[in-house]
Amino acid sequence: MKCKFCNKEAEVTIRYPRMHLCENHFKEYCENRVKNVIDKHRLIEKDEKLLVAVSGGKDSLVLAYILNKLGYEFEGLHIDLGIEDYSEMCKKSSKKIFSEIGLPLHIVKIKKLLGRGIGEVKTRRPVCSYCGLTKRYIMNKFAYDNGFTAVATGHNLDDESAFVFSNILHWNIDYLSKQGPLLEAEDKFVKKIKPLYELRDKEISLYASFAKIEHVTKKCKYARGATSIKYKKFLDILEKDNPGIKLNFIRGFLRNRKIFKKKDFELRECEICRMPSQGKRCAFCRFWRLKEPLMFQ
Ligand code: SF4
Ligand code: ZN
Ligand code: ZN
Repeated sequence: MKCKFCNKEAEVTIRYPRMHLCENHFKEYCENRVKNVIDKHRLIEKDEKLLVAVSGGKDSLVLAYILNKLGYEFEGLHIDLGIEDYSEMCKKSSKKIFSEIGLPLHIVKIKKLLGRGIGEVKTRRPVCSYCGLTKRYIMNKFAYDNGFTAVATGHNLDDESAFVFSNILHWNIDYLSKQGPLLEAEDKFVKKIKPLYELRDKEISLYASFAKIEHVTKKCKYARGATSIKYKKFLDILEKDNPGIKLNFIRGFLRNRKIFKKKDFELRECEICRMPSQGKRCAFCRFWRLKEPLMFQ
């Protein structure tokens, strides 16, 4: 089978939109998809001070690689979660890609900042739940404190379709109203963007292997119970028989998102960190029992 765009043998078959592509044209297809999402949703403005959050996994590293290839200027942020050798591997891969593309990478170590790593806190709260809270807070606070105007993350089509699907099943209207490739800045919340919004998990894996991007493939030991995996598996079954269903689902959701009305919470300042909060103290300061705001050196 020949590539749709040149005379080379095709190495990849994309089921929706159906086409056969050689390695180079497949990479170009992925890069164009990212560029289209950025342009269509106006994710990156001129003079944007962009921070790209990298975990060490394929999605965020491919994101940094493609954004650099597309000519965007940015800095990276890696949060070292302190999960034994897993975190060491993640840090190594993140450092490697940033040294290859020649852009600065900031590393924030949770153990150093908060005294304990993820998984070392005695709590009834599930590990992934407070890990998520901690990552979201640090990404935003680091960006805000350092004058970044946008934070990019590596969420992909499979993550996003599973997230929307699960929130529709549970009628989490407030989450749905805020879902999408762009979450505008508000108060001290820095703008969040997801340029890989229309790329599939498998496409990103393939891109990483063609572009020789070393990334961590080992799963975090706390990932096993994550409910999002079940939703992903279910959508994979649907996609198998109906190629393109995830993409159409997510695009249809964006067209109709306005039917989910955002609840207006009254935000005040957390008395500890001065970041926006619904109560006297924000969820992060409450969870980590902070007495003083988090300071990044
Ligand atoms: Fe954090 Fe859970 Fe992801 Fe591990 S699997 S990095 S604990 S959110
Ligand atoms: Zn080709
Ligand atoms: Zn706080």
